[in-house]
Amino acid sequence: MMDVFSNVRLQLDKIRQVADLSDKEIGLLTSPKRIVDVTFPVKMDDGSVRRFHGFRVQFNDARGPTKGGIRFHPNVDMGEVKSLAFWMALKCAVVDIPYGGAKGGVEVDPKTLSANELERLARGYIKSIFEVIGAEKDIPAPDVYTTPQIMAWMLDEYESIIGKHQPGMITGKPIELGGSLGRGYSTSQGGAYVLKEYLKVIGMEPAGMKVAVQGFGNAGSHIARILHAWGCKVIAVSDSRQGIYDEDGLDIPGVLEHKSRTGELTGFGKAITNSQLLSLPVDILVPAALENQIIKDNAKTINAKIILELANGPVSPEADAALEKEGIVVLPDILANAGGVTVSYFEWVQNLYGYYWSEDEVMEKLSMVMTKSFKDVQVTRQKYATSFRNGAYILAINRILAAERLRGRL
Ligand code: GLU
Repeated sequence: MMDVFSNVRLQLDKIRQVADLSDKEIGLLTSPKRIVDVTFPVKMDDGSVRRFHGFRVQFNDARGPTKGGIRFHPNVDMGEVKSLAFWMALKCAVVDIPYGGAKGGVEVDPKTLSANELERLARGYIKSIFEVIGAEKDIPAPDVYTTPQIMAWMLDEYESIIGKHQPGMITGKPIELGGSLGRGYSTSQGGAYVLKEYLKVIGMEPAGMKVAVQGFGNAGSHIARILHAWGCKVIAVSDSRQGIYDEDGLDIPGVLEHKSRTGELTGFGKAITNSQLLSLPVDILVPAALENQIIKDNAKTINAKIILELANGPVSPEADAALEKEGIVVLPDILANAGGVTVSYFEWVQNLYGYYWSEDEVMEKLSMVMTKSFKDVQVTRQKYATSFRNGAYILAINRILAAERLRGRL
């Protein structure tokens, strides 16, 4: 498989053509501060012991403690975790929260584990990385196939090792253990605010727009719900196993209820494949699953006007260029999905204060951050006459490099 980090290098090559970056700056931006690569044992229900491979990459900490989720997925590897950690550093800088970037992962298919095995896996992973994480060092959170319950086990493991409470060591926790109201749907809500700001710029309204959503996990299911509530026609959604399609718009509340009850998307509309979903003629296409979904080979088939990237890295750099040529606007991941880490930041602030906010307060602050970030990106992209992605990259890179310079590291 292609190393995902080569995408990061290609993206930075593009940025170099627009913004003036020295070799020294590029070198610093592409060198992770710390890479942790571990194997650890987990006792399985049948009494056997399996070893798992885990990673934590702390990419850049110039702006603050490193921050980023933990992914449990069979395809997790170092290149992927490194790229995701790099994008986290940029993402936190785009929304201007005082964090660097990190990411973690375990190579595992969590669907094959029992709840008890999953708990021991989560605890085993924390046991093997606990020295490098903490509320003032590096703060994990959920990502693909990790949940508030998994965050709760990780918190409990960490606190039992250090012998005291420290809820700010991890975010995306259940509310009962210091989680923030609104964190569950914050990635999608943040993306919705970004989309709304963009639609304002082009003088459009969301109502009546046709939408297709790839991925029906945390990000995909909530964006389908929000856009449906805004009056959009969500005509197709898919998860890792199946896709459904209805030209007149799916009954999204019904689909959500059915999926949470049965774990399935079936029973609504017609069946559709993943590649058919991606090439539907829609106003808004929302990739909300994994990286490299829109690549060189299928970029020509994309028939959307706007792509709202709720996944990390769903569009490869080659595809990006092809889409731009076609006039398809991409609202990039490091802006569009930054609502998740923004509410993670609010959660951490609430943990440090020991004082908790109402959901309205969280959403009001999220809306302010996302609106301002969209405008900052818009100003940068206009200044450099470039795409939203390049604008977001330049904004973030300049903020990171400014912090590096102030620290005397550049
Ligand atoms: N995993 C999410 C992301 O990719 C959230 C990270 C966080 O909240 O720290 O942005």
